[in-house]
Order: sequence, then structure tokens, then C-alpha cells
Amino acid sequence: MSALLGKDPGALRSAGAHELFARNRVRASRGGLPLMPYLGDDQLTLLWRVEEHEALTERAWDASRAEAAVAAIVADAEGAVGDAGWPGHPRDDAAEDQSISSLYLGSAGMIWALHELGSSIDAGGMVAGAIDRYRAAPDFADRAHAPSLWMGETGLLVVAARVGSSAADERRLRELVYENREHPTWELMWGSSGTMLAARACGLDDEWDESAGLLWERWDTTTDLWTQTLYGRVSQILGPAHGFAGNAHAVRGYVNDEALRERVTRALERTALRENGLANWSPVAEPVKGRDLVRVQWCHGAPGIVATVGDLMPLELALAGGELIWRAGPLRKGPGLCHGTGGNGFAFLKLFTLTSDERWLDRARRFAMHTIEQVQRERERSGRGRFTLWTGDVGVALYLRACVRADATFPTIDKL
Ligand SMILES: [Zn+2]
Repeated sequence: MSALLGKDPGALRSAGAHELFARNRVRASRGGLPLMPYLGDDQLTLLWRVEEHEALTERAWDASRAEAAVAAIVADAEGAVGDAGWPGHPRDDAAEDQSISSLYLGSAGMIWALHELGSSIDAGGMVAGAIDRYRAAPDFADRAHAPSLWMGETGLLVVAARVGSSAADERRLRELVYENREHPTWELMWGSSGTMLAARACGLDDEWDESAGLLWERWDTTTDLWTQTLYGRVSQILGPAHGFAGNAHAVRGYVNDEALRERVTRALERTALRENGLANWSPVAEPVKGRDLVRVQWCHGAPGIVATVGDLMPLELALAGGELIWRAGPLRKGPGLCHGTGGNGFAFLKLFTLTSDERWLDRARRFAMHTIEQVQRERERSGRGRFTLWTGDVGVALYLRACVRADATFPTIDKL
């Protein structure tokens, strides 16, 4: 085993930019460690950090147990909704009575997920209520950005259109997509690659095409990356939530896959951290010591890159990313999609789709059994469920259902 693999001198729990945003403040790890401990230079070349992961459950795959967990999560969510949506969760730094309406942490994501999972909730009426609440008091107050797919009104309007709500408003959605076409983040969470997913899902082909052209122009031919201006920092972010992988995915169809594959391959081969048949990627192309700690999550690192653009990179590199995710093991942070065990498992489903090798499906399903235990553990700790699409229990339910069906389609990214 190489000295670089999983070494642990820093032991800092570090969050992604969107995690920091969702928490509204940066804080030290729950273990009471200092916020910025000294990190040696080799922190930048680690493939993963042992302390971020935990041992995989011994429990074997059991489809009926997975389906029972899905049913329990759906029933719990159906029973927990109030007049102002679902209660916030301490792990998202949201007060119990805090009403969030948008897709990432709020009602729009919950409604979309429950609709996908076959719940008989009144999705149309509920999303109409959430849109009213958003318009009266936009999420994230002084940082509100209505065009954002994840944090703004756009996500709500897509869900309204997808569930057939009377609140669907194509004219307003067109405006929001147009308004966001040159947003300086050049990423999915706030910027145009997110609104492009919305435009595509709702058949706004002209708006999609205009945004795609502008995003394509910003794809730097020297680095084969985009440059993000996000929360006051200028950097080149690699994962799907805030940069490269999400943008490359969003421009699919603007040029053919061969042209995309060439550029994606160049960028990912150049930026990969490789060791002994394993591969991972730092959050940014040029990491800064002490802030860009390597992660193995959907939002930052191999899982999201493989799950999102695994078909646009050399198979050997995607497989090396998959091996890294398996070797690192489930995430301690939780079972969810964005930075949890379930999101990581989607990379295995993608590799199963690409190779038909049952070993990847088996690995995805082992992770699935682990997510069930993580949901249970978290429920015992906090006394209730976590009601968000991207960090919470319904995201896990979507992952469990994907494992039952051996379907790599990533919620809202591949199908919104
Ligand atoms: Zn995340």
C-alpha cells in the first residue's frame, strides 16, 4: 500500500462549497478539532482520507429489505409535511420550523422525489404552495438567486411542470433560464448548467441552445476546464455540483459525444490523482494547501465524476475511480446523494451500465444495504427523518430503488 493512500495527518472534516453555504457558516469539525490545522504538502496528493469513511456493513443485498426501506422513508415523509413544507434538520443547519422551498434542501426536492417514488401526495397542489412561499420569502434571503436550479425558483417551476401542477409557468421559467445564461459561477448549483437541465426537462429548446452556446464558449481550450467565480473565489472546480463534470454533462447534445469525449478525457487525465490502479480528483484543478482537501463524494471527487461523465472518459480511468470509491468505503457524513454513501454508489451503477460486470452492481447493492443502516442510525440520533432530496432520506430511497432496478439514472441530473 502506498504511503499516499488514505493517510491521515490532518483529520479535518471539511465541507464542499455548497455544504458550507447550506450551513450558512463555516465551523470546526464535530470532533472539536481546529478549523485550519497544519496540513503537510502531501495532503494535496492524498487519494482519500480514512477518517471520512467507515467500515461497510456485512449485510448482504436483500431487495425486499431495500423496498421496505423505500416504503418506510416515503411513509415517514408523507406524514411529516406541514403547511410550510417539511421540518429542517440539524445536519443541514436548518431549524425545525425553517421553511425551505427550493430543490436542493427544500420542498421542491421532496415533492419531486416522492412523485418519482410513486407517492400519492398532491404533488401539484404542494408545489403550488411552495412556489407561493418562495415568492413571498425567497430561500437564502440576502443571497437569494431566483434563477438557480437548486436554490431558486427555477427548481420549483421545473417540479411544477413535471408533476402537472396548475402553478407551472413556462413564461417565467423561460425568463429565469435566460437571466442565468451568463451567471459568473459557470456551474450547476447557481449557474447556467443547472438552468440548462431545467430548460431541457421542460422542452425550452431555444433557451437551452443559447445557454449551451455560451457555456461552450467559456470552455477554456488551454486547460480544457471552466473557471468558476464562486463565493468570492476564482478557481477551476472539477466535480458535477460546481464545475467541470456538471458543465460537460449539460452541454451533451450541443456537440457530438466524440468531441466531448476528447476534451473530457484530456481534462480528467491531466487532473487525476493516480496510485496503484486507483484514481481520484481534487475538488479543484490547482488545490490550495489547507482548503482543498480531497474528498470521495458525488459533489467532489471520483464518485460524481464517474457517475456524471463516466461514459465520456477512458473506461480504464472510470474503473480506477470506481476502485477508489470501493476501497475508501461508505461515507461517515451520511447516506445521502450529494456527499453521502448513496451518491457514491451511483458511480458503481454507472460502471455496471458501462461494463455489464456484475461486480459493480454487487458493490452498489452492498452500499445500498449500508445506507439503510445509516438512515436508521441518524434517525435514532436525531429522533426524526431528514427531509431533503440531496442530503436526506428520500435521496437514499431513490438510490435504493435504483439498486433494485440496476438503473444508473441519477436523480435530477440524468432525469429531472
Ligand atoms: Zn455535496
